[in-house]
Amino acid sequence: MAQRTTKRDYYEVLGVSRSASDDDIKKAYRRLALQYHPDRNKDPEATERFKECTEAYQVLSDSEKRSMYDRYGHSAFERAGAGTVDFSNFVGLSIEDLFESFFGTPGQRGARQRVQRGQDLRYDMHLTLEEAVFGASKEITLTKNATCKKCEGSGMEPGTQPTKCPRCDGSGEIRRVQQSIFGQFVNVTLCDRCNGEGQVIADPCTECQGRGVVRARTTVEVDVPAGADEGIQLRLTGQGEPAPRGGVPGHLYVVLHVQPHRFFKRQGNDLLLEMPINITQAALGDEFSVPTLDGKEVSVKVPAGTQSGRIIRIRAEGVPFLREHGRGDLQVHLRVRTPTDLSDEQKKLLRQLGASFGSTQNTPTENKSFFDKVKDVFSAG
Ligand SMILES: [Zn+2]
Ligand SMILES: [Zn+2]
Repeated sequence: MAQRTTKRDYYEVLGVSRSASDDDIKKAYRRLALQYHPDRNKDPEATERFKECTEAYQVLSDSEKRSMYDRYGHSAFERAGAGTVDFSNFVGLSIEDLFESFFGTPGQRGARQRVQRGQDLRYDMHLTLEEAVFGASKEITLTKNATCKKCEGSGMEPGTQPTKCPRCDGSGEIRRVQQSIFGQFVNVTLCDRCNGEGQVIADPCTECQGRGVVRARTTVEVDVPAGADEGIQLRLTGQGEPAPRGGVPGHLYVVLHVQPHRFFKRQGNDLLLEMPINITQAALGDEFSVPTLDGKEVSVKVPAGTQSGRIIRIRAEGVPFLREHGRGDLQVHLRVRTPTDLSDEQKKLLRQLGASFGSTQNTPTENKSFFDKVKDVFSAG
């Protein structure tokens, strides 16, 4: 039995004395597991060390097995019928799950009381640009679970009591003995029949069929803040699905979508308005009113000699900053429109105008030098 002689002493493996306390053993194992766990240490040698210290911990952390080991050594577990070492399925476990399964107290592992949280809900809300920019109070109707009034959410027919879960016999967990490359281990899972609660409903409520909730249409008021934008998500705390049996309700997330506006575009906190002007307005200058998004009129002064694309900025007529003071600007983008449907009279006037420019503007030479500049830019790049 060469293998038996090469198997190291469990106390030596954990680096503790034979009189070590349970706490010392736990600390020693925790330290070694962190050092050799396959998640942290890719060395194949480490996996062997991890397996070795886990086996040692399995024995020395159990007072019965420890006293057997103290008396008979490794042979205590090698004799037929002496009981196998209880290996947990630690190979696939993350280090956190491993520690929870080893160090969690039986009370925490069994019929555990977890605070259940209801599901979050998402609602996609469509807004006009005005609603997004200036804020709005909107009502939305959605179908969600509501606590059943008949059973008050317990799921039990009023006047009845729950009974012990027949699948797990009230323990809340299912234990299964399995074989793995490391030997036999006991796999403990939450009971799927009672969801770890240890008891089940004997007489389900006839109103909700034992679910504790019924589907109901609910109206929720949503305050859209001024300055809201496409894709912004508003969280309505506790307006999601209620949690079963007195837990915390989930949240309602309202995702905002802004419809395009016929005239105004949004660019950050600025609003953009395209304003067509004709060639005489551009050449001679003009003054006129433009609408703002909130329906006011503001005066715009176009200077003489304006080129197409010029931007006139009107301060603080843009989008309010979200949850802050101040707002962006209104940018009036001037577009010089070349006339298309000219009357004969207008054509005549324009020809006269063209003749009056003579050779001072838009001459072939000027165009030539303009193209040369463009070419220079491209050849330089
Ligand atoms: Zn009910
Ligand atoms: Zn159960």
